[in-house]
Amino acid sequence: MNQLTPKQIEELHSLLLSQKTQLEQQLLDAESAIGVVTLDQSAVGRVSRMDAMQQQSMAVSTRAKAEASLRKILKALKRMEVEDFGYCDQCDEPIQFKRLKVQPHASHCLKCQDQLDQA
Ligand SMILES: [Zn+2]
Repeated sequence: MNQLTPKQIEELHSLLLSQKTQLEQQLLDAESAIGVVTLDQSAVGRVSRMDAMQQQSMAVSTRAKAEASLRKILKALKRMEVEDFGYCDQCDEPIQFKRLKVQPHASHCLKCQDQLDQA
């Protein structure tokens, strides 16, 4: 048996919450970086506009990544609520605590994740 103890779940829960806060902040930062270029387009020179556009496209990809991670984290938190957290989506085996410490939003055990990565 390899089920998570309430203490371990508690630990992962606070990990997820702090990651959620970080991602929300990242999203806000990205939003404002994206917004700046649109607003200031006529006010800045050519070079700084290129610069700003580059920063904007970086912000767009940061935002996409943050949004994807945030979705996984919210899903994991939801699964905690319904006490369905820590099990592999594919084989239903408990996911190792060691793995969840690194990636608390993991939805697959290592074995299945390997298979998915190779597919
Ligand atoms: Zn599995």
